[in-house]
Amino acid sequence: MHLPIVRGAWLAMLLLLAACSSPARRADPAPAAASASPPTLLLVSIDGLRADIPGTGRMPTLDALFAQGARAAWVNPSYPTLTFPNHYTLVTGLRPDRHGIVHNDLEDSMLGRFESKKASGRDGRFWGGEPIWVAARRAGLKTATMFWPGSEAEIAGTRPDHWRPFDGKLTPDQRVAEVLAWLDLPANERPRFITLYMEQYDVAAHAAGTFSPQAVEAMETIDAALAKLLAGLDARGLRADTNLIVLSDHGMADVRTSDTAYLDDVVPESLYAWTSLGPVAHITPHPGQAAEVRRRLVGRHDHYACWDKASLPPAWHYGRNPRIASIVCQVDTGWRLQLRRHPLPHQPLKGEHGFAPEDPQMRAFFVASGPDFVPGATLPSFDNVDVYPLLAHLLRIHAVPNDGTLQTFTPVLKPRAAPAH
Ligand code: AMP
Ligand code: ZN
Ligand code: ZN
Repeated sequence: MHLPIVRGAWLAMLLLLAACSSPARRADPAPAAASASPPTLLLVSIDGLRADIPGTGRMPTLDALFAQGARAAWVNPSYPTLTFPNHYTLVTGLRPDRHGIVHNDLEDSMLGRFESKKASGRDGRFWGGEPIWVAARRAGLKTATMFWPGSEAEIAGTRPDHWRPFDGKLTPDQRVAEVLAWLDLPANERPRFITLYMEQYDVAAHAAGTFSPQAVEAMETIDAALAKLLAGLDARGLRADTNLIVLSDHGMADVRTSDTAYLDDVVPESLYAWTSLGPVAHITPHPGQAAEVRRRLVGRHDHYACWDKASLPPAWHYGRNPRIASIVCQVDTGWRLQLRRHPLPHQPLKGEHGFAPEDPQMRAFFVASGPDFVPGATLPSFDNVDVYPLLAHLLRIHAVPNDGTLQTFTPVLKPRAAPAH
């Protein structure tokens, strides 16, 4: 619990820090172990929950947070609108092009293949940048992840103090129980930064559609777990001293399996290698075939378009990373790109993401409440790279260089003496 006097001490320390630090030191870690701890920060992700779902009566707990908390019109996901690139952007503030998780599955010329949901996904060498828990630990704060893409890998030589290998069988309620158990640790061991990740909506929407009975049931299950989380905070008297952010990584659109475009109808598969298919395809022409593959592929096709990696739409901030293949193809919403001899997994597929980030259906949501937020305040839409500087601000630690800006949140943050970065 934070008494006013403790907050006053924080204020004084921040003022002192602001006075001492020069712009060149902005990326430096915060001094270790402040005498007072920041409010606990809970970051909750509901994978794939579209921006237009909260507030529609399907998730009463989330709806109440929307009504009472600080909320954004929506969040623009980073390109590509897939789970691993975006979750890692949320905790690093870097575009996928910069943090290197440029797709759920990718190829690195030195390290080989990365598949996010397999063992290679836990290999820290693939994960660039620095997730927020690294700086938090450096500042002497305990951290815990109840799942988060990247949390199982040793990145920058470290992992969260508490982390779990991903296990989709663990129910939302069980995950919440684990989070609450962490909050029951003695004050000097209690994590000040905790993530909670829930994929049940994403899984159900892929299998059965965005508003299918299965997807609605997943919304209800997740919402009931959120209610338990809030009740657990209340029961421990922690609500007033906890900043809670609930958000998603991207949205979801209904698709029909029959709406498939075949890449090998345009260029024979013998001329190139591919590292991914589906909504976003990475194509590498075989030696000597670059001109021919480009001639046939680059440009607009029925239901998809392909670009040289250097000429992708600037708004996507994508194409400089060596892991991005020389040709990138993006399907239109609702479609998918496939090769005739390589059927995609996830059959049947009724819901999908990975479509262009400008599509309103790909928009993510954001709501926050707690001591640092102005209740009921609203934000226009923002890019999800901005979440990381917000996390650093809420933890009172220095953000390392990133692609986002804290200014986005000025309308919803209670004024403080000086931001910590
Ligand atoms: P996708 O829909 O292909 O972008 O990936 C999302 C799916 O990845 C989720 O529905 C989970 O089943 C799975 N997933 C999420 N986090 C992890 C993780 N840390 N490790 C392995 N698989 C995960
Ligand atoms: Zn996702
Ligand atoms: Zn998904």
